[in-house]
Amino acid sequence: MGLEEKLPSGVLLTSVEKLAGWARARSVWPATFGLACCAIELFQTGSPKHDLARFGMEIARNTPRQADLMIVAGRVSQKMAPVLRQIYDQMPGPKWVISMGACASSGGMFNNYAIVQGVDHIVPVDIYLPGCPPRPEMLLDSVLKLHDKIMNTKLGKDRERQIADLEQAKLGIGPLRMTV
Ligand code: SF4
Repeated sequence: MGLEEKLPSGVLLTSVEKLAGWARARSVWPATFGLACCAIELFQTGSPKHDLARFGMEIARNTPRQADLMIVAGRVSQKMAPVLRQIYDQMPGPKWVISMGACASSGGMFNNYAIVQGVDHIVPVDIYLPGCPPRPEMLLDSVLKLHDKIMNTKLGKDRERQIADLEQAKLGIGPLRMTV
């Protein structure tokens, strides 16, 4: 949006933020992105049984330029990390990230040099979803929590500042080390 940057702050902008948040929360398009076993549960979430379409999310986009949600489903290898970041950078803003499963959030059982010990070292994460693997119901729950977050998301420069702060805070955290 470009309108919100031109509007004065106060009641009017608050209402525009709420309206834009409501519309955005109901039209989130995820990027097609599966990295490991968690992706099987992600695919299952789109099946008729769990019906992701209820939330207007049935269209998984094959190009990041048409997606505003990245669901990192599975462990992220060091080799994949720059690719993941490139896909994230190609997504138009505002955009969101769900880290799905223990491996994506912390490296999980793969505490070694080949696996990134938390995808928040690569991209800013909005929702961390625990589990190995998380069930589709858990992913649906995190989608609903993300909706709440989107509804209360700032617009324009405020959102950019929010992301920059989040990213800086995460990049400042060192990788987990194996203790013996
Ligand atoms: S959290 Fe479990 S299911 Fe998900 S990628 Fe890691 S090992 Fe596979």
